[in-house]
Amino acid sequence: MDRISWDEYFLRIAYAVSARSNCVRRQIGAVIVNDKIITSTGYNGTPMGIPNCFDGGCKRCNSDGPSGANLDECICIHAEENAIVFAARHGSSTSGATIYTTNKPCLGCLKKSIQAGIRRVVYAEQYAYTKSVEEVYNWLVEESGIEMSNIVRKLIAHMKWIASRKHWFIPPEIGQISLDACPANRAV
Ligand SMILES: [Zn+2]
Ligand SMILES: [Zn+2]
Ligand SMILES: [Zn+2]
Repeated sequence: MDRISWDEYFLRIAYAVSARSNCVRRQIGAVIVNDKIITSTGYNGTPMGIPNCFDGGCKRCNSDGPSGANLDECICIHAEENAIVFAARHGSSTSGATIYTTNKPCLGCLKKSIQAGIRRVVYAEQYAYTKSVEEVYNWLVEESGIEMSNIVRKLIAHMKWIASRKHWFIPPEIGQISLDACPANRAV
């Protein structure tokens, strides 16, 4: 029987987590895993006790500024940092863990992941960096030895295959990759 890998298993759970995001800009989910056990989850949005981003909680996100502008005024916590902070809050070790995240972490979340002792990052979608940030980013990945895995193609193929059977909604930007890549599709 053809079944999904552990990486796909946890990454799909990260997509389920992203559905709880309250940010008007983008929906991201992250899952921290130690020895195949989920020790923390996080999605992006405003801090606890603050009105949700979609209720106007974050002025920057609700402004019509372009993507990436005024990020230092954004009060939304990123999915990855939320997962790391919740692990701290509830006393779960992140040392040696893997973080599964729907989007490649930003530089800030990469720094925090390294400092939290996370050794592997598995992500699906890309994140837009400027050229200079990308250089620092790649240097940091290399120096720290953190492992980056992008499993988007296989994941999307499987998600589309399942979606076609379960009538799930798949965003159009994800829907552009051909179903032919899906091993599960060939198995049917
Ligand atoms: Zn927001
Ligand atoms: Zn914001
Ligand atoms: Zn981030």
